[in-house]
Amino acid sequence: MTIIMSVQYLKGVGPKLAKILKKLGVETVEDLIYYFPRDYEDRSHIKPISDLRPANFEIVKGQISQVNPQLTRNRFSVIKVILSDLSGSIQAVWFNQPFLSRLFRKGMRLILSGRVEYSDFDKSLQVIVRDFEVDTGDNIKIVPLYPLTQGLYPKKMRGIIREALDNCLADVVDFLPEDIKRKEGLIDLETAIKTLHFPNSMSDISEARKRLIFDDFFVFQLGLGLCKRKIKREKGIAYQIDQKSLKSFSDTLPFTLTSAQEQVLADILSDMGKPQPMNRLLQGDVGSGKTIVATLAALVAVNNGYQVAFMAPTEILAQQHYTKLTKLLKGSKVTTKLMTSSTKKRTTSSKKDITNLFIGTHRLIQEKVNFDRLGLVIIDEQHRFGVLQRKALVKKGLSPDVLAITATPIPRSMALTLYGDFDRSVIDEMPPGRTPIKTHFVPENRRRSAYEFMRQKVAEGQQVFVVCPLVSESEKIDFNPSTALRIDAEQRRGIKAAMDEAARLQKEIFPEYRVGLLHGRLKGEEKDRIMKQFSQGKIHILVSTTVIEVGIDIPNATVMVIEHAERFGLAQLHQLRGRIGRGSKQSFCFLIAKIASEEAKTRVKAMLDSVDGFYLAEVDLKLRGPGDFYGTRQSGLPNFRVADIIRDEKVLKAARAVAMDLVATDLECACNIWESQRKKIKLT
Ligand code: ADP
Ligand code: MG
Repeated sequence: MTIIMSVQYLKGVGPKLAKILKKLGVETVEDLIYYFPRDYEDRSHIKPISDLRPANFEIVKGQISQVNPQLTRNRFSVIKVILSDLSGSIQAVWFNQPFLSRLFRKGMRLILSGRVEYSDFDKSLQVIVRDFEVDTGDNIKIVPLYPLTQGLYPKKMRGIIREALDNCLADVVDFLPEDIKRKEGLIDLETAIKTLHFPNSMSDISEARKRLIFDDFFVFQLGLGLCKRKIKREKGIAYQIDQKSLKSFSDTLPFTLTSAQEQVLADILSDMGKPQPMNRLLQGDVGSGKTIVATLAALVAVNNGYQVAFMAPTEILAQQHYTKLTKLLKGSKVTTKLMTSSTKKRTTSSKKDITNLFIGTHRLIQEKVNFDRLGLVIIDEQHRFGVLQRKALVKKGLSPDVLAITATPIPRSMALTLYGDFDRSVIDEMPPGRTPIKTHFVPENRRRSAYEFMRQKVAEGQQVFVVCPLVSESEKIDFNPSTALRIDAEQRRGIKAAMDEAARLQKEIFPEYRVGLLHGRLKGEEKDRIMKQFSQGKIHILVSTTVIEVGIDIPNATVMVIEHAERFGLAQLHQLRGRIGRGSKQSFCFLIAKIASEEAKTRVKAMLDSVDGFYLAEVDLKLRGPGDFYGTRQSGLPNFRVADIIRDEKVLKAARAVAMDLVATDLECACNIWESQRKKIKLT
């Protein structure tokens, strides 16, 4: 028996159980050894039965005084057992495990856990059993609780984990160098794993967790560090930076750059001037003026004779960037071309394409665009792409410079993970002349007053967004068919809701104005047409799903109504709100919400309190956890076994520092560890 063998060969695991385990991502014995409890039951102090009260969770210990198996009318099996101790007795109930009736005998001692409640039948106290074991007198006191699935019982899971540890724990190699363990105060891996599964006391758990959390972060950061080092050693393009031509271009702009823009531009130009490839993340809140900075970078690349690929997360945004950049760059050497699914057929590039700035969605890199001199890749809202795509992209060109732009105010801990191989620049200042948006909460019964306000603003010549919830566009590209189906259904429901809302507003509320509808299932040209009409003021009120999420720039839109605001995450609400407040006029955001949970309340309150994207992102991250942060599975965040980038931010920072240090001081060791451990990393 070795650690790399299939779990099927473990005692107590057959083909059937192996299949069930596979659903949990457990295929080898090693997977099983690294499958950790989500929590523990402390059975070191157990209440006498007479002290039990209704509770979600209790431990009960007693002797069987009666066994009563039953079959309900619809052939559902129920087993009821009376358990007694010196203080009293309680009924224990098992559903749908008929085989247990053969096991239980009068006089047998059990320890069990479950929900304690009053029975419907006679209002006596009963326990609905979640897990049980025979009380042998030397049962473990701290019981691990594993995430389980249909057909896998807690006791079985504990048994096979025990079996795996007994047979194969010795195969686990502690890959951390002694001096790192000593300096960071970490226990050895074998002890940590064993303790995390079967701790002797609750107080042992934290040391064990610390080691495994450190490992999770350390290995990932090592990968990022090696990746960063590799990029820095590639031969990239050392661009000539012609300050004069940049200046004469800047002079054509209707504004001067803010000092924050100047600063990040200096970072970018300095990277571009170096012979190593740039790998930089440009972060800045919506409307902070990132696009213009990226445009200047593109200009430098083109002036040096290279091509640029500019990728946006959706077609609408690609189109908008195209329009904006084409206008901005008129009179320069830059020739732009839009590459979207609707333009693709016509523009599949001929051999000698003179275009030097290609704008499209992420498909740009998948299609056979003839990049023979790709020198710069600009990726807008990179978190929708993910680590692997980024690699594919870099492979395509002559190791081009990469500039990732994001309006998502990614909290630091997240940035260190998601963009740990990037250098980072932040635009932390808004262009002058903006009036902060006023945000109001509108309970359902005040909806009318919001409509009256809208009517007044439209009469003044301003425009309105109405946003209905929907899962984000990019979730369509999902590899898991069942998720894809679910999302598909959700999307259709969301679109239906937006359609209904648009029809209702048009017919019942604003017959005198033009209400438009925008959603992700419209064809590219159709979307384009609607956006154009909206930006020309021909549509007064635009009802939309979240396709307007990022980057849309229509300064005359000053009112946004967000329907079901409680369903959106905070980061997304903030992104949406960033579509207004882009001009000099006062803008207003109305959150129509049914506040059902504390969390929804916190979210809405945060939106009323703050317009600071970083602050809101921190709150959101705390509320929802990293997995759900972007509302998308495409985030490229690793699936850590034990670690959590928010809760364990301190360890993350330490592990990152140690990993970067190791890459710098002992490359061979860093590579060896990475090669031996990399397969343990699973990306979401
Ligand atoms: P972002 O890409 O960060 O969301 P944009 O680059 O689209 O922001 O800029 C938002 C708006 O602000 C645009 O209309 C742009 O022309 C304008 N803008 C950008 N930089 C400045 C500046 N320094 N001063 C005034 N307006 C600016
Ligand atoms: Mg932008």
